[in-house]
Amino acid sequence: MTKWSLLAEFLSLSMLSLMFLYYHEKGCLLSFRRKVFYWIFWLSISSIVVNIICVYTIAHTDAVPLPVNQILNTLYFMLVLLVSSAIALYIFDLVLEHVYRKDCYKKAVIGLVVLTSFYLCVALTNFWTKALFYFTEDGRYARGPLNRLGYVILGIELLMVLLCYFNNRAAVPPKVVRVIHTLPPVVAVLAGFQFFYPEILFNGTITAVVTLILYSNFQTCQVEEDYLTHLGNRRGFLSDISLKIKSNQPFQVVCVSLRRFNEVNQKFDHSFGDDLLYSIGKWMEGLCVNCRAYRYSGVSFAVIFPYRGAEEAEQRIQEIHQRFSDVWQCKGISCKLSASTCDLVWNGQAWTSNTVMEYLEIMVEMSKGSGSSMIRFNRAVAVSIEREKYLETVLRSSLKEDRFTIVLQPLYHCGRKAFCCAEALIRLNDYDGTPIPAGEFIPIAEKIGLIDEISWVVLDRVCQFLASHRELHLESISINLSMQQFQDPSLLSRIESDLQRYDVPRGKLKIEVTERVISQDLGYVREMMKKLNQHGIGFYLDDFGTGYSNFAVVMQLPFECIKLDRSLLTQLIGSQNNKEIVRDVISLFHNSGFRVACEGIETAAQADIVTSLGTDLIQGFYYAKPMEPDAFAEFVFSRSPGH
Ligand code: C2E
Ligand code: MG
Ligand code: MG
Repeated sequence: MTKWSLLAEFLSLSMLSLMFLYYHEKGCLLSFRRKVFYWIFWLSISSIVVNIICVYTIAHTDAVPLPVNQILNTLYFMLVLLVSSAIALYIFDLVLEHVYRKDCYKKAVIGLVVLTSFYLCVALTNFWTKALFYFTEDGRYARGPLNRLGYVILGIELLMVLLCYFNNRAAVPPKVVRVIHTLPPVVAVLAGFQFFYPEILFNGTITAVVTLILYSNFQTCQVEEDYLTHLGNRRGFLSDISLKIKSNQPFQVVCVSLRRFNEVNQKFDHSFGDDLLYSIGKWMEGLCVNCRAYRYSGVSFAVIFPYRGAEEAEQRIQEIHQRFSDVWQCKGISCKLSASTCDLVWNGQAWTSNTVMEYLEIMVEMSKGSGSSMIRFNRAVAVSIEREKYLETVLRSSLKEDRFTIVLQPLYHCGRKAFCCAEALIRLNDYDGTPIPAGEFIPIAEKIGLIDEISWVVLDRVCQFLASHRELHLESISINLSMQQFQDPSLLSRIESDLQRYDVPRGKLKIEVTERVISQDLGYVREMMKKLNQHGIGFYLDDFGTGYSNFAVVMQLPFECIKLDRSLLTQLIGSQNNKEIVRDVISLFHNSGFRVACEGIETAAQADIVTSLGTDLIQGFYYAKPMEPDAFAEFVFSRSPGH
């Protein structure tokens, strides 16, 4: 009687059990593939356990009833084949993941079902046919004529996998290719070993090694997988996009970026926030059979769909848009989320995965900036994205080449009937000489982190101007600062050092900030303003009335002057009723100790109206356009008293 060695089986059992324990984590049943892998574990472990039991029952046929022995051995034969079919199914799913034509997948599944059913029938009828194994009269285990049928079926399944791989090579991810290249030789070596040393039981080891290869490549903490949702991460997203482009399979990608999600975290807690993100990911992953979802950054998700025409693409985006306008339920809590959505279709354009990613990210930003919740990629969007990318390069090179200049626009003092102060505005021309509007390049500079350096250029020029024109009757010049600079702890020292370097008299420099700046951490902003005030630097609130207005907040901050935005004035000055509103706003600010300036005054009629409404200062083309520093000096000098 053959003496079988079980050492390898015990080792494999321990290895599989350990892997299974690690696998038992939240989210492990999210996708179809994870479910299949779960079954691979169960079947592998069961087959080894049954095998070990069989070895003992075969060795003790005198004590174990024959039917029990037969049932256990039949079960073992069935389990081994189920393991190999489940592994084959798993690999088919990997190989064909990015292949849109699903006929190959269907054929593979049908093939597997037929082969497995056939083998199960052989195993179930073995009691009568004795094809796989049987027990001799004296109770010994003997191999039947089809004992190696399992190996043949395994070989056929392997061939099917290879065939499927060779037919769809272009769309197979590199990691899967690596596994396809390593698995067959490893299995062949182990199977050969088993063939030559039949007394050392090795089937469990083959299964365990295959499972280990798949586990370490596709199921552990993946470099391309998001730890929280188990969706693809940014890296996975990019590599899938480039695979789709490489294999020339048109796709639609929809991005959803949640807005103000920190409010959800604050209101409930971070673990609720995590659960909600998980539910969103799960919903997105389930959107269709052929799609794949990703969490490519903190609160930004994406789904890649096969592109099958404009109508279906429209439905997809509407479905997602609709879902995000509804309420989300998580842990019994209803939550309304706000999201920026955008989509893009790749249908053969000469793009790389990075181009696609760049477009998507810019579109998400556009959607956030414009307040529109959905942006579709079209020609106009492409043009504005290209323009933005172009301006980025112009801004970077212009900084290096010191191409920025400033202009100064005077402010008229209604009481004194004279120009008392000015605002410094940055200017940049394109390389062909065309002016690039500040309103266009400043937001880009803020986005790409250049605003700091640009603002220091303005500060430097203004200090230089103030130092070299001490004779001018000028109260002050104001510069515009963006939100980022307020968050920069070196702001004060930077300004101080410039003022000292040029020996600028105290009180000559003012800073303009918009309501966007003060909508940040109010306590911090107030402290910062107070510190700068102590160094003689006063503050103007710019663009009041452009949407962020909050009187209560404004009143709490040490501003010297409030500048009413042009849009507010042009809207309100039209009717008598509206004029009264402006009058009330101005007197409210006066009563709180602020000066008021009106911006963008273009005609004598407008100037008369705002003067009659009580404004202190007026800035606008009617009095003067922004001028080069020398022209400005001449302008102020020629209008100063006694001239
Ligand atoms: P702002 O600070 O409100 O500047 C006033 C803008 O109104 C300037 O546009 C000015 O040329 C324009 N303006 C003045 N009078 C009139 C008028 O009568 N009619 C009309 N239609 N416009 C008038 P500009 O120079 O294009 O600047 C646009 C915005 O860009 C500025 O708005 C400011 O927010 C930003 N900006 C300009 N320079 C800088 C800078 O150095 N740093 C920062 N952070 N932002 C700047
Ligand atoms: Mg301003
Ligand atoms: Mg303004």
